[in-house]
Amino acid sequence: MNTPRAAARVVVVDDDQILLALAEETLPPSGFHVTSFADGESALAALERALPDLLLLDVSLGGIDGFEVCRRIRARADGRDLPIIMATGKDDAASISRAFEVGATDFVTKPVNWALLQHRLRYVLRNSRNVDDLRWSEARNAALLQAIPDAILLVAPDGIVVHSFGGDRDVLGLPASAVVARSWLDCLPPAAHETAESQRIACGTSGKPGSFEFERPASAHDPGSARIFECRCLPNGSDGVLAVFRDVTEKRLAEARIERLAYFDTLSGLPNREWLLEHLRQLVDQSHRAGGRFVLHYMDLDQFKRINDSLGHATGDAVLRMVAERLGALLRRLQDQGEIGDWRLARIGGDEFVLVTAPADVEAAPDSLAAALLQAFVAPFEHCGYELHLSPSIGIAKYPLHGEDVDSLMKNADTAMYRAKSSGRNTVSEYAPSMNMRSRYRLSLEAELRRAVEAAELILHFQPKYALRDGRLVGAEALVRWNHARDGAVSPGVFVALAEETDLILQLDRLILQQAIAHHDAWRARGVPGIPIAVNLSGREFTRPRAMLELGDLLAASGLAPGSIEIELTEGVLMQDVPLAQQSLSGLKEMGFTIAIDDFGTGYSSLAYLKKFPIDALKIDQSFVRDITTDLGDAAIVRSVIGLGHNLGLSVVAEGVETPGQAAILQAEGCDVAQGFHFGRPCDAESFLRLLQHSFAAAIRTTVADEPGTRGARYGTRPAPPA
Ligand code: C2E
Ligand code: CA
Ligand code: CA
Repeated sequence: MNTPRAAARVVVVDDDQILLALAEETLPPSGFHVTSFADGESALAALERALPDLLLLDVSLGGIDGFEVCRRIRARADGRDLPIIMATGKDDAASISRAFEVGATDFVTKPVNWALLQHRLRYVLRNSRNVDDLRWSEARNAALLQAIPDAILLVAPDGIVVHSFGGDRDVLGLPASAVVARSWLDCLPPAAHETAESQRIACGTSGKPGSFEFERPASAHDPGSARIFECRCLPNGSDGVLAVFRDVTEKRLAEARIERLAYFDTLSGLPNREWLLEHLRQLVDQSHRAGGRFVLHYMDLDQFKRINDSLGHATGDAVLRMVAERLGALLRRLQDQGEIGDWRLARIGGDEFVLVTAPADVEAAPDSLAAALLQAFVAPFEHCGYELHLSPSIGIAKYPLHGEDVDSLMKNADTAMYRAKSSGRNTVSEYAPSMNMRSRYRLSLEAELRRAVEAAELILHFQPKYALRDGRLVGAEALVRWNHARDGAVSPGVFVALAEETDLILQLDRLILQQAIAHHDAWRARGVPGIPIAVNLSGREFTRPRAMLELGDLLAASGLAPGSIEIELTEGVLMQDVPLAQQSLSGLKEMGFTIAIDDFGTGYSSLAYLKKFPIDALKIDQSFVRDITTDLGDAAIVRSVIGLGHNLGLSVVAEGVETPGQAAILQAEGCDVAQGFHFGRPCDAESFLRLLQHSFAAAIRTTVADEPGTRGARYGTRPAPPA
């Protein structure tokens, strides 16, 4: 061993007292520590306790002789490597060979040459230490090879195994040593041969390590015996490689376990978001190929944060677990009853759950399933003496109707869920493309809009309407404007649609009507005769008798003459429920409103229905007016709408008139009223008042000038647009 030793311990055994004395005299100055014994028995007894670094042993002793002492020491496990030098008589060849037979390391002859002996001792000791070191390093290597689970083959450039390390380990199904002198492919399954060879050759020629994995199939009598191996090829000089094989079966199994853990939500025991997304990817793949369908129910617990905040996270967690259990129990029951087929439930975040139901249930189940899901929350959740009432908001998205990939499906289900939330919670909403605004943005916008409506921060702009026959200003359409503090002017196309998704639209409609009435009043107070103001109405009031009555009350309270306010309703709204529309329109008429059908031509209304509606005007949609000068089809449509309207005794209004050419055709076709950028853009109330005053003044002048004889047009051409 390499530990430095101060003095080598030498035991000298000889029955010659003079020799012992000489040894004790001459060896210590050369760095030896000498212990001497005069006979074999006492020497053996002492050596029993501890072995020295070197033993100098006379062959002939009284009693047990030196040969026997040597033999007994060599028989000991710890005595095999002890350097033993035997002292023999000069030229006693028999003793010398016998000394080697019993295991002596070396011999010296008597009489001893003391000057030389110390060199001899040192030489033997050094040798012994080298052997020790070698043995140690070999033992270490062996231990190392034993400890590493790999089988290592040294493979020559021709693919023949030159050496095998790691002994007989059965890593490859046959002892690694058994492949020596054979092709290394013999220890690989045929399926791996090609990869193995290309890796080995690449590694040998490039000098860069490489690796590959292969599976050793299960044996016929033990189906569970399949193993996965990793083989690393390491360059080993002159194109040979070291092939290191490791059984990675357990590692791969562990990875799979970890993956499973990563795929599950430990709180609820349900699959988590990652799992769900992966599952959906596969489902989309399958359904795409097989033409299948499935449904997502995206559930979010209403105001769950309140529970977390007021009762703590432990309670929150417990509630989430109860929700997961309750939903699971419900779904299992529904499946047992054959009401749903395959289903998967995942918890994808805080209080969000997603249910995926299999293709078979799409047509029949979603509605009743959603109802059952809502029903599952009716009973309170009991925890630590609390009775907690929870409800979900549920968004539904169907594949492929509402999205053909996982992202859009999830996004749209989430959007539908937000819609459900904003329409009062504890409800279900199925995705519709009109919900296309980003849901979270929409939610904040909705809150702000609500505030703006409540604070009456919305204002009206007015767009003038002119009679085409004589150019008189005959009305105005009120168009709502919202100046959002952060986003600037938000288009009514955006926020009206947003308001329509909730009951907020009722407030908005009422607010606008109120403002329109107020403006009408104000203009009269400023001395200009009021002109009819057209107000766009959502039609949501039709299903809310109270809201209908409120509209009537507003008009009645204003004292305005009947016909002062015209209500514009889109064709689409009226066609949704024809009998209801009919009844509601009659109601509005009785209250004193006149009625126009907005965006006419886009909503598939049939003449039959049109006859039944108590309406006053048709507004031809801008899309027909836009191409009236170039598109013969559009021109024909406009012409027939005008004819149709007149046949029914209705006034016909063209909207979106932008050019003199369009105005001329409309005039020629007998259209009654026009509005559009050509005549005047929507402007604020102040500007519109100036326009009114201007046109009133012009009318007075014309009337006065015309007094003696009357010419056709009373007001002449249309007034100049406001500055
Ligand atoms: P709409 O009722 O068809 O209103 C006409 C829209 O066309 C207005 O857009 C108007 O500014 C625009 N317009 C007017 N003349 C022209 C023109 O010559 N060319 C073009 N390209 N456009 C013209 P706005 O104000 O953005 O309103 C959009 C829609 O928002 C309205 O369509 C209406 O459906 C809705 N809306 C506007 N105000 C209200 C409201 O007070 N209540 C309700 N419920 N809906 C409203
Ligand atoms: Ca309109
Ligand atoms: Ca319109």
